[in-house]
Amino acid sequence: MALGRARLVQPSQYVIDERPLDPEEVEAEAQRLQLALDTARTELKSIRDKLHGALAREVGEFIDAHSLLLEDPELTHGLFDLVRRGRYRAGAALKLQRDRLAAVFEAMDDPYLRSRREDIDHVIGRVQAALTRDVTAAERQIASRVGTVLIGDAIAPADMTHLPAQGVLGLVCTGSSPLGHSAILARSLRLPMVVGAHDALAVLRDDDLVLIDGERGQIVVHPTAQDLARYRQQQRDAQREGQRLAQLVHAETRTRDGADIRLHANAELPDEVAMARHCGAAGIGLYRTEFLFLQRRELPDEEEQFDAYRNLVLGMGGLPVTVRTLDLGADKAHGTGLGLREEENPALGVRGVRLALRRPVLFATQLRAILRASAYGPVRVLVPMVTGPEEIRAVRSLLQRCARDLRSEGHEIADQVELGAMIEVPAAAIALPSLIRHIDFAAIGTNDLVQYTLAADRNNDALSTLYDPLHPAVLRLLAGILASGARAGKAVSLCGEMAGDTRHTALLLALGLTDFSMHPASLLQVRDALSRCDRGRLRALAPRLLRAADRAGIERVLARADA
Ligand code: PEP
Ligand code: MG
Repeated sequence: MALGRARLVQPSQYVIDERPLDPEEVEAEAQRLQLALDTARTELKSIRDKLHGALAREVGEFIDAHSLLLEDPELTHGLFDLVRRGRYRAGAALKLQRDRLAAVFEAMDDPYLRSRREDIDHVIGRVQAALTRDVTAAERQIASRVGTVLIGDAIAPADMTHLPAQGVLGLVCTGSSPLGHSAILARSLRLPMVVGAHDALAVLRDDDLVLIDGERGQIVVHPTAQDLARYRQQQRDAQREGQRLAQLVHAETRTRDGADIRLHANAELPDEVAMARHCGAAGIGLYRTEFLFLQRRELPDEEEQFDAYRNLVLGMGGLPVTVRTLDLGADKAHGTGLGLREEENPALGVRGVRLALRRPVLFATQLRAILRASAYGPVRVLVPMVTGPEEIRAVRSLLQRCARDLRSEGHEIADQVELGAMIEVPAAAIALPSLIRHIDFAAIGTNDLVQYTLAADRNNDALSTLYDPLHPAVLRLLAGILASGARAGKAVSLCGEMAGDTRHTALLLALGLTDFSMHPASLLQVRDALSRCDRGRLRALAPRLLRAADRAGIERVLARADA
């Protein structure tokens, strides 16, 4: 839960007054514009000052670029010229200047320069926002940034990492879904988030006091004393539950009937690695490397990536670390230096290994960095979005070439680095018996596997009832994947959000899963849930689970394990 002041993000909804200025209004309008520009600069500076650590490095550059744009005479002179000579109101001048500059950027051949258009939108949006506010109260607005709950349509993963440093306490999206990357990142950043709140932008006003509950998906506007008491009670309960679970930090992960289970952690931010260690994770089961590529224009070079992977490996102190190669596509990579062209259907487009194999230099840079980190502890390479063996063969041959090159350059690398595939495309799941001999291990990505199997976009909250990990088709795929792994003697883990959801722990045990990977914040809860499960009884229920016709039937079968 989070309690804060609402701050609405709705850049598309500025009302532009297109009426020309009367001559006597011109100077006052120019001053309004000047004030809005100053406010935007002060805001950027205040964000910059609040950043520290790795975020300052990652996000700082991005903010500096925006500050520079605000100083750019090309932009500012043009704006004042439009007001003074063209008699445009400040809002209309901003819009016109934005459209002109956007056209210039769009006409550029260089994809990097072309992608800078987005900066113009961010900067102009900030000035527009300052214009539409009560400018004299700007200082108060900045001060009230501490402790805000952002309310917007959707918040892109790339825009999220700097939010906690800006004092944002929670997020409300009118769209989005609990399984989208924004929600996954919100969990990593420990930001309560409510998605699918369709009316939020219409109902809420800036500075409304709101209490949000990410677990129940509730938003209370102008909470009463009773609501606040419930909030404080929840904080106390959470603290007590935290203390109870903390006792499990050093406990073995074992079911009630004594079966050993392995719990790995998913990580993308450095803090999560520390948390994984602290909670007694068996290793990192999924390290999402996209974070290194987001929030910036230039691509991270081999040294920078090597540094990040080596820190990860050292941070885990000898426990195995599974690094997933870049899983970006036209949706997530927007605004990065990858210069991807837009796709109508990015989830089915050139993403994951498809993109990596089309960018061999980019991919080899990442593989080299991962291989070099393997000198510091056990590392495995995991490939996302695999559809068939030819992709794995291509990755393996590139990996081997990188290893040969590195050795001949005198770098020390591990003798063997295992290569695994994410099983998240139904084709790979169904044809796993023939794919499995090409891989050393598999990691089931249920977040995507469910969306592709059920043809239900994981980011579309309108399909949230259809997007059901307990659909019989999903269960049959999961059981099939686990059985193929067992037959081939290859390790299979599951690293989708389902793994960290205690409502599914018994089901996954029943299907034969022994290797879970989840956000470290869920690890102790899952360890606790496992200690109450009887694996033997659950396994015996598997045939009945797989015969169940629907979710209700599956739940009825599972209830028997508790009886
Ligand atoms: C998945 O698809 O289940 C997964 C773990 O990867 P991501 O959520 O990054 O797509
Ligand atoms: Mg995935």
